[in-house]
Amino acid sequence: MAEAQRAPLDLSFTQRFHFHGGLRLEVCPEVAAARPVRHAGIPARLILPLSQHIGEPARCLVTVGERVLHGQCIAEAVGKVSAPVHASSSGTVIAIEPRPVPHPSGLPALCVVIETDGVDQALGDSTAIPDFRQLEPENLLEQLRAAGIVGLGGAGFPTAVKLEHKQPIELLLINGVECEPCIACDDGLMRERAVDVIEGVRILRHIVQPAACVIAVEDNMPEAEQALRDALQQLDEQDIRVVNVPAIYPTGGERQLIRVLTGREVPSQGFPADIGIVVQNVGTAAAACAAVSRAEPLCSRIVTVTGDGVRSSCNLEVLIGTPVRHLIEAAGGYADRIERLLIGGPMMGYTVNTDEVPVIKTTNCVLAVTARSMPAPPPPQPCIRCGKCTEVCPAELLPQQLYWYTRAASYDAAQEFGLFDCIECGCCAHVCPSHIPLVQYYRHAKTEIWSQEKQKRAADIARTRHEARLARLQRIKQERAEQLAKKKRAVTGKDAGDAARQAAIQAALERVRQKKEQSGTTPRNTDNLTPDQLRQIEEADRRRRNRSTHGDDT
Ligand code: SF4
Ligand code: SF4
Repeated sequence: MAEAQRAPLDLSFTQRFHFHGGLRLEVCPEVAAARPVRHAGIPARLILPLSQHIGEPARCLVTVGERVLHGQCIAEAVGKVSAPVHASSSGTVIAIEPRPVPHPSGLPALCVVIETDGVDQALGDSTAIPDFRQLEPENLLEQLRAAGIVGLGGAGFPTAVKLEHKQPIELLLINGVECEPCIACDDGLMRERAVDVIEGVRILRHIVQPAACVIAVEDNMPEAEQALRDALQQLDEQDIRVVNVPAIYPTGGERQLIRVLTGREVPSQGFPADIGIVVQNVGTAAAACAAVSRAEPLCSRIVTVTGDGVRSSCNLEVLIGTPVRHLIEAAGGYADRIERLLIGGPMMGYTVNTDEVPVIKTTNCVLAVTARSMPAPPPPQPCIRCGKCTEVCPAELLPQQLYWYTRAASYDAAQEFGLFDCIECGCCAHVCPSHIPLVQYYRHAKTEIWSQEKQKRAADIARTRHEARLARLQRIKQERAEQLAKKKRAVTGKDAGDAARQAAIQAALERVRQKKEQSGTTPRNTDNLTPDQLRQIEEADRRRRNRSTHGDDT
């Protein structure tokens, strides 16, 4: 929406708007127990993928056998949309190799494996900034970039990139709404570290310079809301508001939360900044506080470990790179034979095949479920075009159309129908009476399209290189032709030298002839004589010369 057409923000935030569709989901019974945040401890090994964010994977800076310290940068960002990776404890690098990572594709990715020493010796960086207000926003952005801060709400977009904007920002919206009903990591963070959250929000506000700043929590999080209000009072902060929103899934989605609080719609394929709003997760705010005030890079986060497959649901503060198996053990171990192990919640989570995958920056939940609570879905049936998926889609898409197109690999048509506006919330699959795994089709299609685009970019680069090679060969050919021409000119110069030598010879012959004349021989014009006449004359000359040399003997 153009700025001129945009309705002014109601800064009282008393009104709540509705987004299309959505679901009221039951809160997982185990989550109530996942309350106090405990430290998961230091695992024997840390597995740190070089790609834990949206954008280019980081470039490894360490070698096998190298000792690293807690907080040491072990992989640097490559390009602007990228983020560095830091060692989350001290130890020795024992491998740099592909390992299973938490990703819907299930494909392994390059990781740095650190054998920890249990000492947790820190790097001892002294770049902590006691008062962030003394720094310009650009310096703070650099601090966040160097600390490897990415969106902890799940997307993993580098925070510094998201905070840079060209247009004026009216609202900094801090998202404290849990992504899914089973996840309680943000709830735990706000309840136990509200001061860090508020300090982080102040830092983000100093960077973004918005007209207003709001923290949104769900209306079923009264303790977190109260903790934030207490922290605001403690810090004497008047300009940050805490508001609550109805617990309708997926209100935690960026676009849906903006809609609920402001009534504004983020344009298709656009960004919240396009409508004057920047959204950051509460976890990201707390991480920004740690990065700026304590010079701590992003080395840990809070993860909810839950499901009926673990003995004791809990919120754990976990070092990035900790294997999921270590979390399960910290949660009392597996309670029963588990049916599935998911990264994320029951709606948006994806299954992993091993508990050796590590926690990465975007891991908010580990869900271990038995066949009792989450039985294997029945085989999918044909779509009956009931339209239920359309009714619940918060992105106002036509999920069944997307299903047809993605199933038929008609990716252009799928994109026309808003495939990339799909937030993969899973509402459509949740209500589908035919049990069609709709989101799997969408994810696969997106991956295929990205892969094709990557191949196209690679082909473009190859074509550019080929054209550059042809141009180089043409240039070399031209240079050789010029060298040849130069040589020819040089050869022509040699001919001229021969002509000069011929002229010199002629001049010498002329001098000989004149000498002969002076010595008595008769100059003759021999041009018109026959060969016999020339021989006779030469014979006569020879005799005459003999006579003059030896006297007349006749
Ligand atoms: S809910 Fe399932 S069966 Fe109904 S229209 Fe959507 S995809 Fe088809
Ligand atoms: S997964 Fe995508 S298509 Fe399905 S309801 Fe969510 S946004 Fe709509």
